[in-house]
Amino acid sequence: MLQAYARATISTNLRDRDDRFNDTDRLKAVALAGSALGATLVRLKAGHDASVFSRALDGIIGTLQRQQKPAKHARAAILYWLCDRCPACHGRGFEKVFGAPVLSEIPCKSCAGTGVRALPDDIRHVVALLDQLYQRSVGEAKNKLFANHFP
Ligand SMILES: [Zn+2]
Repeated sequence: MLQAYARATISTNLRDRDDRFNDTDRLKAVALAGSALGATLVRLKAGHDASVFSRALDGIIGTLQRQQKPAKHARAAILYWLCDRCPACHGRGFEKVFGAPVLSEIPCKSCAGTGVRALPDDIRHVVALLDQLYQRSVGEAKNKLFANHFP
């Protein structure tokens, strides 16, 4: 879904077709699914565009403030949410064998073999909110695509 949506955001052909999903269907489904902030997060996850990042940051700060939750680390939370891969092992989870194209059985010392960075407590609530908004938009977009294609 996300890769197809990412391709749709840079589509050069937005002509509608009735016989199969197309870029227009994907763009419409995401735009009309979930919340405006959720759609922005899907767009951000699909492309990491700087202007979309700013909109997402403003949106999440506003949402947190309305919920009376701390918004101080919103930027760090979005950056974590976009990439939680362990920087030491690049998400592999295990140390490389020097000079060979294989991984060892030794877990990465930074992430203990998970391949994921530790989630700081001060951004945990923001990352959870980002996940919730994103998942709701993606789920509703899939439902809209399915309903649109198989009425
Ligand atoms: Zn690691």
